[in-house]
Amino acid sequence: MPLRSTLHSQRSLLLTLVILLGSGFLATSLLSYFASRDAIRDSIVNTELPLTSDTVYSEIQKDLVRPVLISSMMARDTFVRDWVVAGEKDPQQMTRYLKEVMDHYGAYTAFFVSNHSLTYYQAKGILKKISPDEPRDVWYYRVRDMADPYEINVDPDLANKDNLTFFINYKVFDYNDNFIGATGVGLTVDAVIKLIDRYQERYQRSVYFVDTFGRLVLTGAQGGPGGAKVGQVLRELPDLKGLQQQMPKPQSGSYQYDSLDDAHFLNVRYIPELNWYLFVDKREDGALDEIRQSLYLNLLICLAVMVLVLYLLNRVIRRFQVRIETQAMLDSLTGLPNRRGFDRIAMDAIADARREHKALSAMLLDLDHFKRLNDTHGHLAGDEVLTGFADDVRRCLRDTDIICRWGGEEFIILLKDTNSSGARRVAEKIRLLAEQHTYVFTGAALQVTVSLGLTELHPGDTLQSLIARADQALYSAKQNGRNRVCTEVAEPA
Ligand code: GH3
Ligand code: MG
Ligand code: MG
Repeated sequence: MPLRSTLHSQRSLLLTLVILLGSGFLATSLLSYFASRDAIRDSIVNTELPLTSDTVYSEIQKDLVRPVLISSMMARDTFVRDWVVAGEKDPQQMTRYLKEVMDHYGAYTAFFVSNHSLTYYQAKGILKKISPDEPRDVWYYRVRDMADPYEINVDPDLANKDNLTFFINYKVFDYNDNFIGATGVGLTVDAVIKLIDRYQERYQRSVYFVDTFGRLVLTGAQGGPGGAKVGQVLRELPDLKGLQQQMPKPQSGSYQYDSLDDAHFLNVRYIPELNWYLFVDKREDGALDEIRQSLYLNLLICLAVMVLVLYLLNRVIRRFQVRIETQAMLDSLTGLPNRRGFDRIAMDAIADARREHKALSAMLLDLDHFKRLNDTHGHLAGDEVLTGFADDVRRCLRDTDIICRWGGEEFIILLKDTNSSGARRVAEKIRLLAEQHTYVFTGAALQVTVSLGLTELHPGDTLQSLIARADQALYSAKQNGRNRVCTEVAEPA
């Protein structure tokens, strides 16, 4: 096969392998990546986020249960009811009572509002008179008219620099079940903010509360989505544009949306005690970092394996190629280079001789009456003689000389750094050795003689002209009775 097409088919074999291995590796890596990505997404949406909001919710409930119990006790307290029924005579008694509750139970604030006098009592004294026209007092009238015994409300506390406070508003009744006021305690939301920060840090997700109008009401210290502040409306936040269509106003459920820089998973949960929505939001990027890294590592390993496989395969192919090429240039019977191998070495030898201005002689050898030997003793005997003869000739030559089986029972020799007289000596040696050697094959003694034609390289010679002259010399040797050496001299140019 010509060298170019061998190279071409070798390259297309390697390319096919690259494509096969590459697409196989790529397909399995991507498949496993997508499978784990889906599994992670699924677990975030269906397990992790709901669990977080469950935990946050139960922490809030836990923080609120104690104040609810205290407020319930205040509402049932006989002192409170007796004091109101007796006409709220000494405000200090109530103030002292509220201070006691506040200090003892560690509440942020404690209060009582009388339905009769519309007075707002708290630990430091009388705060104010409440009025239905005052927006800050709306809560009282709501509590008065509601069916439930109590509510949890989040409002700024007037008595405490308007700090956002959870109020437990309990209804108080006299002994005839008449509504006589509202009492309870308040607790700061700082604790809840700390809780939010703790969750955000521990689980790498953002947690915030939104009211029914979609307004941010409570966030961690860093603010809401994209650093939004309390009071901002969700639909006006550029980060949440992608969420707008899915959730125009707050609604419990699981959502996936894209913000300006990442994909998000979101769990929204309604908290009835607060009439707020709890938002737990997780960025996809952080969640998928690990499997993305393992994808890159996978691809890197695949690439390394591919390069290694290709390198090894290429080496094996090359080694086989060299072996096949070498075998193609060797004669299987004698182990000598054949005609194809000879052409390459001979060209090099001629070029060397020219460059180094050294002599070079060519010699053609042909065994005499070899057909007869074959006919008499068989082809195998002929083979034995050919091999033996080739060994004999090799022994007469130097390592640098070139010998090749030219075809059938003919050989060609190039003697480096040797003129025609030197070559003649070698030729005679070979001729004599052949003549004197008896080859043995299955008991039969075989004799053979050889005719040799030699010539010396001349400046105007090509390989062909050199061989042609040697052939001419060989012809003369045959013509002149065989078993002899003839020399052909180049005609002067
Ligand atoms: P001449 O002296 O004129 O060279 O006579 P010859 O018989 O040697 O020449 P010819 O060209 O007529 O015959 C060559 C023979 O060599 C014929 C062929 O069968 C035999 N031959 C060629 N290659 C091989 C081979 O590999 N093994 C054997 N056993 N014989 C071979
Ligand atoms: Mg011949
Ligand atoms: Mg012959």
